[in-house]
Amino acid sequence: MLETSQRVAEQPKVEQALRAGELSARKAELVASAVEVVPDAADGLLELAETAPLAKVKEEGLRAKASVGRDETHVGRAPTVAQKAALWWRSPTCDVLGCPRTQRLEIDHDTGWATTHTTRVDDANCLCDHHHDLKTYFSWAMVEGSGPREMVPPDDPRHPKNKPN
Ligand SMILES: [Zn+2]
Repeated sequence: MLETSQRVAEQPKVEQALRAGELSARKAELVASAVEVVPDAADGLLELAETAPLAKVKEEGLRAKASVGRDETHVGRAPTVAQKAALWWRSPTCDVLGCPRTQRLEIDHDTGWATTHTTRVDDANCLCDHHHDLKTYFSWAMVEGSGPREMVPPDDPRHPKNKPN
């Protein structure tokens, strides 16, 4: 697991900008995902994101990510501060539709750490402790997709494990 001191130092800048509302939710996600891989890009991307159109931010983010070797793109299991900020921006409440909980939200890997070995904002859910427990101990699952959606029990046809191959 790579956790450079530099990465730690750059994250608060992104979090600050996200919380200050200087970025749209989509731009926040793009910047967070690029800075996760390339901490050096934080200043440049944040400055760019303030004024540039979304497509430009995306392009520069991808370019920054492409500039590092594959070995350096290893991402830790725990979401970074920037990813958390992007998630909280997207999901102020539990991601399960109809669940109003805003407190004690936990960030959960959707595909599962064991499968992907990466943490991505679009593959994570904010779950309250109740729904996190249903998933962890009773095999409930989010229906396919990302963002707020339904959570179903293991015998529900929409449960990912019941998907026909
Ligand atoms: Zn919930």
